[in-house]
Amino acid sequence: VDTVGRQPERRRVGIMGGTFDPIHHGHLVAASEVAHRFALDEVVFVPTGRPWQKDSAAVSPAEDRYLMTVVATASNPRFSVSRVDVDRHKVTYTVDTLRDLRRLHPDADLYFITGADALASILSWQAWEELFSLAKFVGVSRPGYELQAEHLAEHLDRLPADAVTLLEIPALAISSTECRRRAREGAPVWYLVPDGVVQYISKRNLYRSDNARTDGET
Ligand code: ATP
Ligand code: MG
Repeated sequence: VDTVGRQPERRRVGIMGGTFDPIHHGHLVAASEVAHRFALDEVVFVPTGRPWQKDSAAVSPAEDRYLMTVVATASNPRFSVSRVDVDRHKVTYTVDTLRDLRRLHPDADLYFITGADALASILSWQAWEELFSLAKFVGVSRPGYELQAEHLAEHLDRLPADAVTLLEIPALAISSTECRRRAREGAPVWYLVPDGVVQYISKRNLYRSDNARTDGET
């Protein structure tokens, strides 16, 4: 409460979870656009530990994905990176991410940001009541995926009006899968990912077939 007795506005914090293997401009535009439209004070990028939907052997070490995320977001004063999932050392579930972020930001409104593809799978597999008690969800458009996912459509009317917002954002048909394929085949990833990430991929020789993968557990 300030000197004239007004309640300070609650902080608004976005959470952008992802494997970020590697982080690309699709992720960054999604976070930036949601930050703008929802007047967020901050967006926290949270690289997964072991992603629950992905084979851990096929994912780059968590430390590399964490560092690429730091490199990609460092210049934006409203972007930060959290280690909560990387340091949990077990399979990452969105509900654990949200519980930890809730603990770190007890007085903030949390907005969990996902692409159209991820939104449908998170909401079809995990416990809804707790997810929606921890954060609001913002589903952003992604080329090649239907934003109004069928699974969501049939449940949307049972949720509070602001539990899930679907947002049309500038279309960037970029995926980490395609970036990895390009790096593996020696095709350019310039302008698909930030310059520092191009350089980090090259420095660590990521995504090359001669580079045996580990799952990032040390
Ligand atoms: P992969 O191909 O390895 O699955 P990805 O490009 O889907 O990688 P993720 O780390 O899986 O990236 O995605 C993290 C989050 O960012 C997810 O919510 C995903 O839907 C969203 N996202 C990824 N790419 C885009 C994009 N081009 N436009 C909008 N959202 C995106
Ligand atoms: Mg994905």
